[in-house]
Amino acid sequence: MDASPGHSPAAAESLLADAGLCILNVYTFAGKQTMPEPSESRVEEVVARHEVDLDRLKDALGLLGVVPCSWCKKFFRRSDPGALFDAGELVCYGCIHEWWTQRCAQLSIKDRETLESKLVFWLRSQHHAEIFKDPTKLPESSQQELHLIANCLECRGTGKLMGDERCRYCEGRGTVWVIVSRKQA
Ligand SMILES: [Zn+2]
Ligand SMILES: [Zn+2]
Repeated sequence: MDASPGHSPAAAESLLADAGLCILNVYTFAGKQTMPEPSESRVEEVVARHEVDLDRLKDALGLLGVVPCSWCKKFFRRSDPGALFDAGELVCYGCIHEWWTQRCAQLSIKDRETLESKLVFWLRSQHHAEIFKDPTKLPESSQQELHLIANCLECRGTGKLMGDERCRYCEGRGTVWVIVSRKQA
């Protein structure tokens, strides 16, 4: 979501302040002890207004270039290329393992292949992920920040290249290990 022309960051900020104020008012109202018990329709009205305010707040954050992870809902800067992976839905780096484990089970083989190669490319370019073809040669698990098992891209998981030749990129396993090591302090 890009800012449309005419929406300057300043405009977005004032929108943000506005929406924040509205939410504050809702909270103030809800927190007053002396108020009579609000009727159910009044509560619905407050909740509906609250939702409108939250949508405006999200729009404002979008204009400022801050968007949420679709998995954990936390906000990240869109301009940081390593923060969010664009899988059609946006997923933050911290959620990648959990998201991918669940997501890839729901995909067709073809969609999984496409998205998996995009994900591996992103992890390599943005997080210095390394590809291992031998599972006995992985870094110690305490040194691993992220650990994914992926189909070998060269033989597309078959373990064979050009007919019967054993794939040298995965040593015939059809599988590779994608590891992001912990940053050394
Ligand atoms: Zn997340
Ligand atoms: Zn291979």
